Amino acid sequence: MTFSGPETTRFAPSPTGLLHLGHAFAARIAHDFARSSGGRFLLRIEDIDQGRCRPAFEAAIRDDLAWLGLDWDGPVLRQSEHLARYRECVSGLAGRGLAYPCFCTRRTIAAEVERMGAAPHGAEGPLYPGTCRRLPEDQRRARIAAGEPYAWRLDVEACIDASGARPLAFEETGRGSGVEHGVIDVQPALFGDVVLARKDIGVSYHLAVVLDDAAQGVTLVTRGEDLFAATHVQRLLQAVLGITPPRYHHHALVRDAAGRRLAKRDRDQTLAALRAVGVTPAEIRSQLGDMPGRGFADLTRC
Ligand code: GLU
Repeated sequence: MTFSGPETTRFAPSPTGLLHLGHAFAARIAHDFARSSGGRFLLRIEDIDQGRCRPAFEAAIRDDLAWLGLDWDGPVLRQSEHLARYRECVSGLAGRGLAYPCFCTRRTIAAEVERMGAAPHGAEGPLYPGTCRRLPEDQRRARIAAGEPYAWRLDVEACIDASGARPLAFEETGRGSGVEHGVIDVQPALFGDVVLARKDIGVSYHLAVVLDDAAQGVTLVTRGEDLFAATHVQRLLQAVLGITPPRYHHHALVRDAAGRRLAKRDRDQTLAALRAVGVTPAEIRSQLGDMPGRGFADLTRC
């Protein structure tokens, strides 16, 4: 990995469970890249989904990082404390005609996709069929006035026009299994009209992550290869919001002996469980490979 100067990186877990070896690997890459470039390593708690997040898991994240010796710089950004900032951004996008209210439920979307027969597919299955994008303005107003709950969706076509229809790209320095390397041309419509603000929480992962990477001055986003595709829609959001994109490093995921990625449900692989049976941070460090970016193949044995 070559650095263009001091890098600001971040570890951004959601406190919905205990951290496992995969998180230790992700945190260590972000930490080591920041430290070896003379930059800053930040911690961000992605707790917008308050129904699934628990304060005890946030406390465990801090304990686990401290135990691993991964010290972060500056204050911790907790996304649940920034909901007003996200809402303001959604209003701004809506005011520019780049987002629209969506009253659909999972059920009505599935029914519409079914009705369409060959609905276009994106990175995560069938794309949103655009039902509410086509709603006449008076119907929108009437439904809002009647108190019907709605989300906000990004109008991808309008965003492509607003970004000057110039081709977008991002720089990828990682090498996960599904990750191309170099300057990646953006497919802005890969996720279709994604939800920007959920009905229940007024924001979404894509919007919060883009705004906070910018707000925290992150220069190098390191994260698992499962989020590589998400970079396409996040880069489009950066373009319409006038945000200078960071560089990206998507890394391989830690897998168990059967090749399955570790998940929060794998209780015996949590850092707390490993610590309880006497595993040391040094043993974890050596198991995950001594250098970031190396030893991905070995990780399948973790
Ligand atoms: N909070 C996300 C997760 O725990 C990471 C977000 C990101 O790195 O973009 O998977």
